[in-house]
Amino acid sequence: MGPPGAGKGTQAKFIADHFGIPAISTGDIFRANVSQGTPLGVEAKRYMDAGEYVPDEVTNRMVRNRIDEPDAAHGFLLDGYPRTLAQVEELDGMIKFTGHELDGVVVLTVDSEEIVQRLLQRAQTEGRADDTEDVIRRRQEVYVEQTQPLIEVYKERGVVHEIDGLGEVDDVTKRIFDALEVVRES
Ligand code: ADP
Repeated sequence: MGPPGAGKGTQAKFIADHFGIPAISTGDIFRANVSQGTPLGVEAKRYMDAGEYVPDEVTNRMVRNRIDEPDAAHGFLLDGYPRTLAQVEELDGMIKFTGHELDGVVVLTVDSEEIVQRLLQRAQTEGRADDTEDVIRRRQEVYVEQTQPLIEVYKERGVVHEIDGLGEVDDVTKRIFDALEVVRES
């Protein structure tokens, strides 16, 4: 978890590679659907372009289908989900059903000015439709209103690892791995 631009996607791949599990990014799945013009993509695009969350019902159904895939049978890492209280509850139900357990929640903390700079930079290199300055600001607001409170929910469960997300990518990865007490092979 962490605000838009905190580096979740980048770090998610390293963690998932280490554990040999898929990194499931709701943002990536939405974007793939948008570029393929699927009905899900058409629906999601309206919200994404405005910096708003896609409705829970749509997002939940998509995640449920994704974790049903065989590659997720032995575990998975979620990137960008859950983002609302309704999604937390849905996830609880899903993993109860599949027999998984929530091992940990990695929270990346970053300074908001740093974030805006990163996102504006990403806008130039990747050209994402939702990386305009107004939309970036709206995404930060939505995060603070809807997603930040969820950190407390998971803290009460004792599963949160708070990680300083500032600095070089590799340093952040190292902090995460130290917190998760994993030994890197390379
Ligand atoms: P970022 O972390 O930079 O906001 P993401 O790629 O995670 O980017 O998400 C992009 C957009 O996809 C979000 O702004 C939102 O519209 C939608 N989205 C992604 N995950 C969710 C979710 N769990 N619930 C609702 N909408 C989501």
